[in-house]
Amino acid sequence: RTKTVVITGASSGIGKHAAKDLSRSGEWNVIMAVRNPEKAKKVAEEYDLDEESYKIMKLDLGSLESVRSFVNTLRNDRITVDTLVCNAATWHPKDTEPRYTVDGYEEAVAVNYFGHFLMVNLMIKNSTIRPNLQRGQNQSRVVFIGTETHNPDTLPGKIPPQADLGDMQGLEAGFKEPIGMINAGKFEPTKAYKDSKVCISILMKELDRRYGRQNNITFTTLFPGCVADSGLFREKRGWFRSIFPVFQTYITKQYVSEELAGLRAAQVASESRFARGGAYWRWQGTKSDSPVFEKDVSYEALDTEKANRLWELTAKLTGFA
Ligand code: NDP
Repeated sequence: RTKTVVITGASSGIGKHAAKDLSRSGEWNVIMAVRNPEKAKKVAEEYDLDEESYKIMKLDLGSLESVRSFVNTLRNDRITVDTLVCNAATWHPKDTEPRYTVDGYEEAVAVNYFGHFLMVNLMIKNSTIRPNLQRGQNQSRVVFIGTETHNPDTLPGKIPPQADLGDMQGLEAGFKEPIGMINAGKFEPTKAYKDSKVCISILMKELDRRYGRQNNITFTTLFPGCVADSGLFREKRGWFRSIFPVFQTYITKQYVSEELAGLRAAQVASESRFARGGAYWRWQGTKSDSPVFEKDVSYEALDTEKANRLWELTAKLTGFA
């Protein structure tokens, strides 16, 4: 095994399948970066993963200290990472009030975006992500799991509440209680989740602009299809969990199994055809051989002025600045 991949949230859903596929490929050392190591251990046992092929490391993306400690451990253990898959995310669709992390930030934005922002930046800064390889298929890679719902110009993205960072007054004001939204508006959990995914799309593009060429790292994102019955939907009511897959199968034609979504993530993480900096990958169809194509991220996520401002605000709030 010559290459190392770190996958956040590898203890369930898309992340666990990606971890399984990369471990079974025989080429990858897989680091499962998870908030619950016991759960990850059970996943590894369930799939009978070769013990030499994986390592479980604790990471709570809702704690900036935990992110720092994770990256420090990699560094102290002299582990160099070829590919980082930023997969973990949280969404609490039934919440009427924001949850706050130990750092005092709204949870969806903090876990899905702030944690990954700090993690990637620290890993680039201390060269934990292998820099300066020859451009080509051995290039190092950072992969984000995005979602089509970040884009209000798509059918799934049109369903209210739509993503919109506004003028980012919430971030500007410090993003602490009672603020629960990036635009400082009334708290809406699904919008908070979608907004966090706009931030992820912006982050991917901005990292590509800042470090893609300079460090020869490919930054990319994918929409693996809609896994309407994964853990992410665990809080949705029973009727939703049965109707939504039907909607996704016949209307948006995006319904895929957790397993296929995991395979797609593993492919983008490892195959040379996906080594294209700044690309957002999306499949046309729900089969394992469905064609894949490159698409634009949302209009808002292409706004470079907004991207710069978001970067500055996030660097300040995460203590990276
Ligand atoms: P899951 O809920 O099954 O997986 C989410 C993972 O994130 C879990 O492993 C969870 O850990 C982990 N996680 C949550 N909070 C934290 C935290 N604070 N620190 C570290 N890890 C954390 O959902 P999916 O597999 O469906 O989602 C994976 C990714 O795919 C997400 O980024 C999601 O936004 C994206 N996505 C999902 C789609 C879908 O239809 N499901 C569609 C498009 C994108 P634990 O195992 O302990 O719960």
